[in-house]
Amino acid sequence: MKKTFVLKRTTEIKSNRKDDRHPISLTHEKNKDDDNLRIIPLGGCEEVGKNMTVFEYKKDILILDMGIQFPEEDMLGIDFVIPNIEYLKGKEKNIQGVVFSHGHLDHIGAANILLKKLGNPPIIGRPLTIEMIKHRQEDSSKGSSKALKTIYIKNIEDKMQFGPFNLSFFKIDHSILDAIGTIIETPVATVIHPGDWMIEHGPAGRSRVEYTNLAKLRKPTILMLESLGSTNSKKQVTESQMLDNLHSLISSAPGRTIIATFSSQLQRIGQILEYASKIGKKVALDGFSMKLNVEIAKKLGYIKPIKGTMIKIDKINDYPDNKVIIICTGSQGEEMSVLSRIVTKSHRFINLKKNDTVILSSSVIPGNEKVIQRLKDGIYRLCDNVYHSDIMAVHASGHSNRSDIQEIIKQINPTYFIPVYANHFMLKEAAKIAYKIGFSKDKVFVPDNGSIIQFNRSGAKILKEKAPADYVFVDGLGVGDIGEIVLRDRQILAKDGMFVIIVTVRKNSGKICNSPDIISRGFVYLRESKNLLAETRRKTTHIINSAASSGNAVNWSSVKNEIKNKIGDFLYIKTQRRPIVLPVIIEV
Ligand SMILES: [Zn+2]
Repeated sequence: MKKTFVLKRTTEIKSNRKDDRHPISLTHEKNKDDDNLRIIPLGGCEEVGKNMTVFEYKKDILILDMGIQFPEEDMLGIDFVIPNIEYLKGKEKNIQGVVFSHGHLDHIGAANILLKKLGNPPIIGRPLTIEMIKHRQEDSSKGSSKALKTIYIKNIEDKMQFGPFNLSFFKIDHSILDAIGTIIETPVATVIHPGDWMIEHGPAGRSRVEYTNLAKLRKPTILMLESLGSTNSKKQVTESQMLDNLHSLISSAPGRTIIATFSSQLQRIGQILEYASKIGKKVALDGFSMKLNVEIAKKLGYIKPIKGTMIKIDKINDYPDNKVIIICTGSQGEEMSVLSRIVTKSHRFINLKKNDTVILSSSVIPGNEKVIQRLKDGIYRLCDNVYHSDIMAVHASGHSNRSDIQEIIKQINPTYFIPVYANHFMLKEAAKIAYKIGFSKDKVFVPDNGSIIQFNRSGAKILKEKAPADYVFVDGLGVGDIGEIVLRDRQILAKDGMFVIIVTVRKNSGKICNSPDIISRGFVYLRESKNLLAETRRKTTHIINSAASSGNAVNWSSVKNEIKNKIGDFLYIKTQRRPIVLPVIIEV
């Protein structure tokens, strides 16, 4: 039934093509040779996060991923950032589908906002990925997941056609189940996009993934490669090493074992469950997202429920300490997460004891370094047995390193190489790896967000024109309503605070009624700044009374500006701080 929908959509597009009364793309009309494939990354090429790529062949569009970016330090109060989809405005009908490479938030996190804006095109992904998208959708608005048109990649061998795009998929290794690589075949070129990937050199219980057969795809081929590892020359911890270490820590733990990891690390959670049942320990899960993800994984059969091993978190005290394993969230020091609550002693059931073993089976997400250091300090104060990646191989990363990048490029041997899904400096380093193994400069493109890379039978180039790619901030329920100006105000407020002056004046004379009221936040402690305030009041009164003394009608907005500037300068001279000055004039 779902397939029928796709076909219907394709015919819709076709009938559109016959009837060209609605020219969607102006460049399309201008361009005689429109046999072009355009690749436009709308996000993920200047940061780690908000990954989203548009593939446009003639009029038809296919999208890969819709992720969020977590806010940077100066984005005060912003929940997250999403890709800018202005380029797709007016082209909604041409969107044949959106493929999701895997369920991490930097790949699916913006789906609940963007799919609706784009008229709910069909979404394509592996079961776990689609279920995670559905849950996020339901979380944001109950019942809304029914509007999603889902197409499951049931088998990695599945092939699908969306207009001019022939889709097939390939196996990759990454730190979440059901991650896939995508092959997009078009009449002019074949795109190979692994999504997030790694080469697992020591997989546990499965065979190593090879990419050599991708070298046989129809040329020219374009490899778009997630390049997060391009500055990492450290040897990777293998899955088998990591599991061996976890097993030995768990089996020899004198008290309880508390393992903090990412809630999407379902494979690892499954592996710990299996090992626990083998050695007769009990496992409790804690953390909303982790419990939710494990439920989804159980429903899909990815985690086998083992009888008698799982216990509820409120039952951990019914068992001897050395029989209890707790797997929880909070490895990034998130404020209200389980681990943070344990450390601040505000967790209802877990009171950390000296002989407990705490394992941070996780990496440090860039930007979280300071918070995690504080978290570690907190754990070390309460507990004698703490293990993390700096001490022991207790985490295997889901991303590659430099030698893996070199190896995958060699294995796939593409015609063109486009490093993506990382900061600019990482993309440049990945490009250098490609040059080193023989790629010429005209076969490698380092895109920015919004870059338009065009491929046709005569070659490839980055166009001068760019798609809009500026930040779209999400704050609470607001999407895109917070702009640079609001953000700048927040930065000033955070740095120097605010200073409000409230003045009551007589309507007819314009004369001031009584001494101005002053409210300030984050600027100075008012009680200890009596002189400063008295002088501010005197200056304000003077500004108002001299404006009113002419006898003419007073222009209150210019008076407000005068107060803002003069008082602002005065406060700066006295304190070397520049709070936001807000004059309020009330006529009575
Ligand atoms: Zn990922």
